[in-house]
Amino acid sequence: MDGDDVSNHFVALLSCSDKEEEFITPCGACRQVMREFGPEWRIILSKPSGSYVIKSLHQLLPMSFGPENLTTE
Ligand SMILES: [Zn+2]
Repeated sequence: MDGDDVSNHFVALLSCSDKEEEFITPCGACRQVMREFGPEWRIILSKPSGSYVIKSLHQLLPMSFGPENLTTE
């Protein structure tokens, strides 16, 4: 299995927290790790009440750098 195959297996991440006041997002390091597996992610941010929002990886990590930026072709 090469890197391209792996990227097809992840499409979303769910972030849960016990904070009612705010949605908790993945940290910058986690966002970059996700980006290494592909640019098309949905990140679901949830609160204990059951409310949630869905963000794209692009919204959380705009102008990102990914593996395709390392190719010379
Ligand atoms: Zn993190």
